[in-house]
Formats: sequence, structure tokens, C-alpha cells
Amino acid sequence: MKIRAAVLDQVGGKLSVREVDLQAPQAGEVLVKIAACGVCHSDWHLVTGETKHPLPAVLGHEGAGVITELGAGVTTLSVGDHVALNWAPYCGECFYCQRGKVNLCEAYVGPMWAGVMQDGTPRLSENGQPIYHYCGLACLAEYVVVPDVSCVVMPPSLPHEIAAVIGCAVTTGIGSVLITAKVEADSSVAVFGCGGVGLSTVMGAVLAGAKTIIAVDVHASRLEAAMDFGATHTVVAGANAVGEIKELTEGRGADYIFEAIGNPKVQEQCLDAARPGGEVIFSGLSAMGSSTNLPGAVLVRQEKTVKGSYYGSANPPLDFVEFAKLYQAGRLPLDRLITKRYSLDQVNEAYADMLSGAVRRGVIEF
Ligand SMILES: [Zn+2]
Ligand SMILES: [Zn+2]
Repeated sequence: MKIRAAVLDQVGGKLSVREVDLQAPQAGEVLVKIAACGVCHSDWHLVTGETKHPLPAVLGHEGAGVITELGAGVTTLSVGDHVALNWAPYCGECFYCQRGKVNLCEAYVGPMWAGVMQDGTPRLSENGQPIYHYCGLACLAEYVVVPDVSCVVMPPSLPHEIAAVIGCAVTTGIGSVLITAKVEADSSVAVFGCGGVGLSTVMGAVLAGAKTIIAVDVHASRLEAAMDFGATHTVVAGANAVGEIKELTEGRGADYIFEAIGNPKVQEQCLDAARPGGEVIFSGLSAMGSSTNLPGAVLVRQEKTVKGSYYGSANPPLDFVEFAKLYQAGRLPLDRLITKRYSLDQVNEAYADMLSGAVRRGVIEF
């Protein structure tokens, strides 16, 4: 079928919205009509080349929509199901899945980073030439073909745009607090970077009952947003940030520091901003090949812990549903996270707004 999609043809280029071909779902796959796709920084890493990926590719990995067709052998889903898309599907059988670390599943990682489906081929093409799928989803498009295990069924009463942001930013941020770090009540938390993931991290810290929640960002608008979601203090990012965090935490540094950007220099500041015995959690994606200086002399003597958090250490089929329930119970103010909606044709404007800090989370609506 012919669909309209946002295609990245080359590093440094603009996204081109145009008609491409999408094959029917094969065995174990489904066709989803996309209703909403969040504008996430991880897509932008392909534009800048910080993430290496085969091109041309259709971007988008924070999507939700309705299933319109089932491939052979799909038994766990139905046409008409409302779904949030999970960019880290898992097999349930590999080394990591058997140990409960499904976000590290070995089965889907290879094909996903090659931009293809499990059989090694993409479903997208143009004039007979392959177009690759970012994150196995490619949901900046009217329709997607994805593995059935990438679909998490959501309540039909949940708005699609909320299901979409649960699919990446919300799970990455809240999961990093509740699942990766298991933040304790009454603790102190600092969050570096208050985009969609960082603001979700603030929401997670509120859910965990943290007493002090310090938001750090360069944009005043994002610091305001963090206060709106429950941050108790704000600090302007820069050379003085560590000193200000220490002042707010009786001179010691915070119990938990979250880095939701992926910037090596900021990651180093995070280590300084953690108290001795504290934990530093990196949830922002860094450029492939970048490195961060984490001095052993400090880690050992001050017993600081540094943890990576990928997709909030979540189990999407379970945790997406939990986050949807929290939203519907009024405990996650996700309506206030989405501050601007765009059409697919406005996709370049949407990414420009993301970079300038003009929006909390933008969503492309179909
Ligand atoms: Zn994302
Ligand atoms: Zn697995």
C-alpha cells in the first residue's frame, strides 16, 4: 500500500514527507494505523549522525494507533485493538529474558539496529529500493508494519497521544526512577535535562515520594514545566549547577542524580552532584562512540554508583498498562506534558521546537 511518511535521506538533511510503499504484514506481524507519534530526541540523533543507522529511514518510535490487519499466526491481538508501540520487543526465551531483563533482549537488537524486520528485510520501499525502519517501528507514518510483540494493547478510553508518549518518554523517565533506581521516599533527587524524559523523571520522583526534587536545565520554560510537575527547586544548567545542588542538600549532594540528556560533560557533573554513597542514573542516549570520564578515585572512595537505564528498565507489556492506569487515576498529569500538536507535514517544525525548548512534548497527529 502507499503511505505518507517522514523519511530521512541523509545525515544533516531535513525530513522529507512523501509517499512510500509499505508491504502487507508477514507472519507474526501486524498493520497499525498510526494516530499519534511523539517527537523524541532519539530520532534527532539520526539526523545529526550521533546514532549510526542505515538510510534512507522512516523515523519515529513513540507511536500509538489502531490495528487494522493481522499477519499469519497472530493470535494475541485483534483488528481494532488500540495499541502503544514498544520499541524494545522481547522474545521471552533468551539469556536476558529468562533473567527478567527483557529490555536487554538479544533477539530483536540486531535487526532493529539494522533497520529491518526479524527476517532481515524492511517492509518499506520506494521505487523498489529499501527504506529502513527506525527502532523497528518507523511510526512517523500513516501506517506501520511491526512485530506483534511490539504492540501493547491499551484501553480504548485512553487518548492515543497519551498512549504514544507512554511508548517512550514516560516509560524511560518514570521507569528510571521507580524501576532502575527504586528511589526511596523522602530522598533527594536531581534531574539534569527537563525535556520529555526529564519531566517524566520528575513525575516519577513525585510518585516515589522524594522530598527534594531539583530540576536542572538551560531553558527557563523547561524549569517552569518541571515545577509544574512537582519539582521543589530549579537550577540553571552550567558551571554553578553542582554547587547549587549541594547547597540545596545540606552540602552533601543529592541521593539520586538522573541524567536525561546523554551529554558526557553533564554526565561528569552528575557524578559530582551525587552525595557519597549516592546513585547516578544515565537515561539519556549518548552519541555512539562518545565517552565519559568517571574517575575511579571518586567512585571508590565515595562509594558512588553509576547505572545505565535503558527504556526505564521497564517491561513494556506490563508497565505501559500500569502507567496508563496511573494516568486514568489522575496520578500522572500527562495532559500537561503534551503542549503542541502538529500534522505530519509540520514534522521539521516539530523537531525545531523540540531543540529550542519551545515545547514540553510535541506530538504529530494523524
Ligand atoms: Zn524516544
Ligand atoms: Zn529475549
